[in-house]
Amino acid sequence: MPIRVLATEVVSKIAAGEVVERPASVVKELIENSLDAGATQIAVEAQGGGMELIKVSDNGTGIPASELELAFRRYATSKISDLDDLEKISSLGFRGEALPSMAAVAEVEIFTQTSSETVGSYMSLRKGEVVRKESRARPQGTTVTVHRLFRYFPARLKFLKSVNTEGSRIAHLASQYALAFPEVKFSLVLDKRQSLRTTGNGDLADVVSEIYGSEIAQKMVKVEQKDGPTKVTGLTSPPSLARSNRNYLSFFVNRRWVHSPLLNRATEEAYHGLLMDGQHPITVINISLPPQELDVNIHPAKAQIKFCHEQTIFSSVQKAVEDALGKTPIARSKAVPFSVSSGQWQSPRMIMDNEPAFVVAQLPTMELPVLRVLGQLANTYIIAEGPDGLYLIDQHAAHERILYDRILAQWSQKEVEVQGLLQPITIEFSPREEETLRANKESLAEFGFAIESFGNRSYLIRAMPALAARVNIIEIVTALLDSLASKESLNPWEEKIAQSLACHGALRAGQQLSNEEMRELIKQLEQTKQPRACPHGRPTMIHLTSHQLEKEFGRIS
Ligand code: ADP
Ligand code: MG
Repeated sequence: MPIRVLATEVVSKIAAGEVVERPASVVKELIENSLDAGATQIAVEAQGGGMELIKVSDNGTGIPASELELAFRRYATSKISDLDDLEKISSLGFRGEALPSMAAVAEVEIFTQTSSETVGSYMSLRKGEVVRKESRARPQGTTVTVHRLFRYFPARLKFLKSVNTEGSRIAHLASQYALAFPEVKFSLVLDKRQSLRTTGNGDLADVVSEIYGSEIAQKMVKVEQKDGPTKVTGLTSPPSLARSNRNYLSFFVNRRWVHSPLLNRATEEAYHGLLMDGQHPITVINISLPPQELDVNIHPAKAQIKFCHEQTIFSSVQKAVEDALGKTPIARSKAVPFSVSSGQWQSPRMIMDNEPAFVVAQLPTMELPVLRVLGQLANTYIIAEGPDGLYLIDQHAAHERILYDRILAQWSQKEVEVQGLLQPITIEFSPREEETLRANKESLAEFGFAIESFGNRSYLIRAMPALAARVNIIEIVTALLDSLASKESLNPWEEKIAQSLACHGALRAGQQLSNEEMRELIKQLEQTKQPRACPHGRPTMIHLTSHQLEKEFGRIS
C-alpha cells in the first residue's frame, strides 16, 4: 500500500498522544517500522543514552522516493487506510505519527532505497522541515538517524534520566524485540560498544542464550499450545531458575511487545505452589490470535492491549505454562477473575467466618527482651520464651536484619570486609544488566565488589563483600543488579545494595539450626537497631503475650 494521509474520520478514532517520550521510544518506533517493512536485519546504534544519536538501519522494503516526504506528514501511513483496517491491525505501526513526531523534536536524516529503484533517496529535516533532499545509491533498505533528541526542548530533556539509565532502557527494548523476532538478525551498539547481537537463525533459545546466558537458555522449557485460534508459544524457566522481580517476564501478542497484568498473572498462577513468595519466573511468550480478537488502539505507545476474551486468554496462557512445567490438572488452581474496570485482581483469598481469635501484638520498634530458645518449628521459625510470653522468630527475616545492619555499618565506616575469590567467577550479563553494572560500578566497588570486563558482556568476579561470599554468587550479583535497576523502590542505592546482599546472604527458611546457632542468631538480633522488622519492613517475629495465651485457653475472660 502506498503512504497516504488518513481520513479525518480514521484519525479521530486513533488513540492520540505523544509517541516520542524518551530515547527508547524513538528506538521502539524505528525498530517497529523496520519490522513492518519486512527487514531480516536491523542494526541499532545509540550514543549518549540516545540523546546524542540514534541510528536504525534495516534491509526492509525501503520507501519510494515519491513517498518520502509524505512519510513525515502527520497521520500518513502505508499500513491502514480505513476504519475497517483499524479493527484488524496486523502491522506494529498504524498511526502515521512516529516519523513526524521525531522530526519535530530532533534533527532527522533518512536514507532509503526500494528494490525497484536504481538509486535511493536521502533527506534531512530540521524543525520538521526538509532542509536537503537528493538521490544517493545504497542497497535496499532504510536508515533513519535521529540527532540531538530534545536538544532544544529543555522541558522534555528534564524528564530524562542519566545517559546510563536511558542506555539501559534502549538495551532492554532491543532485547525484547530480539526475543519477539528470533528470525531477525539484531545488533545493538551502545556508545561504540556491541551490546547485543543475535544470529537471526529463528531459534528462540539462541536469542535467550544471547540475552540471559547459555546456562539459563539450556534450562528453559518449551511452551507450546494451540487452543482454537489462539496459539501460545515460547520458553519458560523451571521453578529452580526463579528471579526476584518481574523484569524477566516478556510477553508478545502477535509479536507486539506488551505490558499486560493479565498475562503476568496468568503465568504466575501457573507457577503457584512452585515458587516462593516474591519469586518470579523467566518467561518469553508470544500469543498469536486473529487481529480482530484484540484492540491495540488504546494508547499511543501501543504497549497496552485489550483482549476481547480476557478469560479465555488467561486460561490458555495458564494452561500452556502449566503443561510446560508438567503440572498435573489436579494441582491446577482456578483462574482468578480480573476486573477490567478497576484493573485489579479480585482477591482469591477466602474470608473465614471466624478470623483467628488471637491478634498478633503490634510490634513497636524497640529493644528485644532477653529470649530463651525453646526449639525450631518447620526448620523455619525459632520458638523462644521471653519475660512476657512466646516469641516466634522468622529465621530468614531475623538474619536479614542482622546482615543488613552490619553491611551498612561497615560501608558507612568504609570498612567493608572483602573476600577475594580464589577462583574468579565468570558471569555473562544481559545487555540491561551490563548497563546497570556500568552505571553503578563505583557504588558496587564501595561494597567490596571487584568485577572486571572480560569482553562480550562476560565479566569476572574477583572479590565480594565477605558477608555474602559464601552463597550463590551469580544469583546474588544478578539479583543485586535487578534491584539497582528497579524503579519500584525509591531507596537510596546503598540501601538497595545492603538489602539485596542481606536478603540473599541470609539463612533460608527450611534450614535446620542447632540450639547453639539459634541462640547466636537471637543474640545478634538483640544487638540490631530494629530487631522487630526485616529491612523490607516485614516483621521478624510474632509475639504472643502471656495475657493473650491465658485468654485463648479461657483462663481469664
Ligand atoms: P506508521 O508506522 O504508523 O505507518 P510512521 O510515521 O512510523 O507511521 O511511518 C510512516 C510510513 O513511513 C510508514 O507507514 C511506512 O510506509 C514508511 N516507513 C517508515 N519507516 C520505514 C522503514 N524502515 N522501511 C520502510 N518504510 C518505512
Ligand atoms: Mg511506525
